[in-house]
Amino acid sequence: MINFENTFHNLKNDFYANVVPSIPPKPELITYNKNLAKSLNVDLKWLESSEGLECFTGSKVMKNSNPLSMVYAGHQFGNWVPRLGDGRAILLGEVIDNNNERWDIQLKGSGVTPFSRNGDGRAALGPILREYLISHAMNKLGIPTTLALTIAKTGENIRREKILPGAIITRVAKSHIRVGTFQYFASQGKYELLKDLSDYIINRHFPEIDGNKNKYFDLFKCVLRKQAKLVSKWMSIGFIHGVMNTDNCSIIGDTIDYGPCAFMDNYKKDTVFSSIDTFGRYAFKNQPIICQWNLVQLANCLLPLFSNNKEKNIQMAQNEIDQFYQLYENFWSEELNNKLAFKIKDKDDKSLVEELYNIMENDNLDFTITFSSLSSIFKNKKNRLLNYNNNSKNFKKWVLKWKSRLTKEKQSKIEIEESLINNNPFIIPRNHLVEEAIKDANYDNFEKFHKLFDLVSNPFKFDEENHKYHIPPEIINNNYKTFCGT
Ligand code: AMP
Ligand code: MG
Repeated sequence: MINFENTFHNLKNDFYANVVPSIPPKPELITYNKNLAKSLNVDLKWLESSEGLECFTGSKVMKNSNPLSMVYAGHQFGNWVPRLGDGRAILLGEVIDNNNERWDIQLKGSGVTPFSRNGDGRAALGPILREYLISHAMNKLGIPTTLALTIAKTGENIRREKILPGAIITRVAKSHIRVGTFQYFASQGKYELLKDLSDYIINRHFPEIDGNKNKYFDLFKCVLRKQAKLVSKWMSIGFIHGVMNTDNCSIIGDTIDYGPCAFMDNYKKDTVFSSIDTFGRYAFKNQPIICQWNLVQLANCLLPLFSNNKEKNIQMAQNEIDQFYQLYENFWSEELNNKLAFKIKDKDDKSLVEELYNIMENDNLDFTITFSSLSSIFKNKKNRLLNYNNNSKNFKKWVLKWKSRLTKEKQSKIEIEESLINNNPFIIPRNHLVEEAIKDANYDNFEKFHKLFDLVSNPFKFDEENHKYHIPPEIINNNYKTFCGT
């Protein structure tokens, strides 16, 4: 059994539409995340039973579930769209986990909703597998993210660029509320509803600011901080979200809406993976500045809640926005310091890091391997993994500088090694591996998918046995594109 609560449903019905999921013709459970199920107090036997399958494919609406689709608006690639909403997602309710935390349980791909516009409300198996794998990898990499509990096939073929198997993912998230949710109400001047929404978020996610003199301004500050931190983590791991529209920007700073996302192989700051991002708006290097742009949109929504003084409100928001980049850089430096095992501060660190990035870019170095090789380099441990950057004289010269910089540290060798191993993943879900897994899965062979899931469950485990999953493909496809999760 599963005990749903429905705090979001208890809000006014301006925030959502009641929706009943479509019944799939031939539902079939593909996999589920055992550890997640356990932490959510979901009985594994029940989950594997026919009722569990019915629940997570929308075939049966469980007692205590009030299924709904949320309304929101958003800027898509900078263009304002006044009404979007969950076009193929249905919130079943919330559950409380072992740590007393509340989680949304949402089906994605379970049929049309009042917000589907011209879409079919369905999802193809490939993008569903990508979301399942990558969100799990992100979680294990320590990056705030939505999670995924189950994947089921619907037994229905859906029409995309070709005919593909349809699937449903059960998404588990601390929140599904987006910057776009605020924009929907603010754009219509519905400030009482905006207050209700803000209070809901404060109550559920930022209770520490409830009761503050200007809690709505403090909410903005909290969101800004969470977003800056999130993007600093993406940037330190080589992750590209792909579609940072304001409707894909979670208010609590989790990575959400895995569509055309990917990890970089060789480092190129201009990298764009999304097939729909023609102008490179959401290129790797642009992610911090786009995050700031999205926060400006959020500020515009919240301004009227700060006080009655319009000028003062703008000034307050502007001050915060102006500080965003510095805040982001501080978070990013923290990440980089950990990756390079710098504990003390040194005035030359910034230029040393810049130099490394320039070498990676100019010498076509693999982002993940450049960092993960450092622990072996530090230990002078020869292994075949080190061959990767051997052709780069610049990298070798840089390594000497880095080693000399490390002599200033007061940490023990073991502490340095630990920092290098624990902050530089050995395994990321590389594009070619994800694509191979999806290709086979489309023909009902899930072996590669399960293998990859296991591998990304332990991203920091250095294991020569897994060498072939560590390295990029022999030929990197620089035209690699991921398609919007449709
Ligand atoms: P995305 O860019 O994937 O986050 O989606 C943007 C908007 O399109 C959201 O409102 C989605 O719910 C909606 N959408 C995406 N795919 C579909 C689909 N197949 N059917 C209905 N709505 C969709
Ligand atoms: Mg979206």
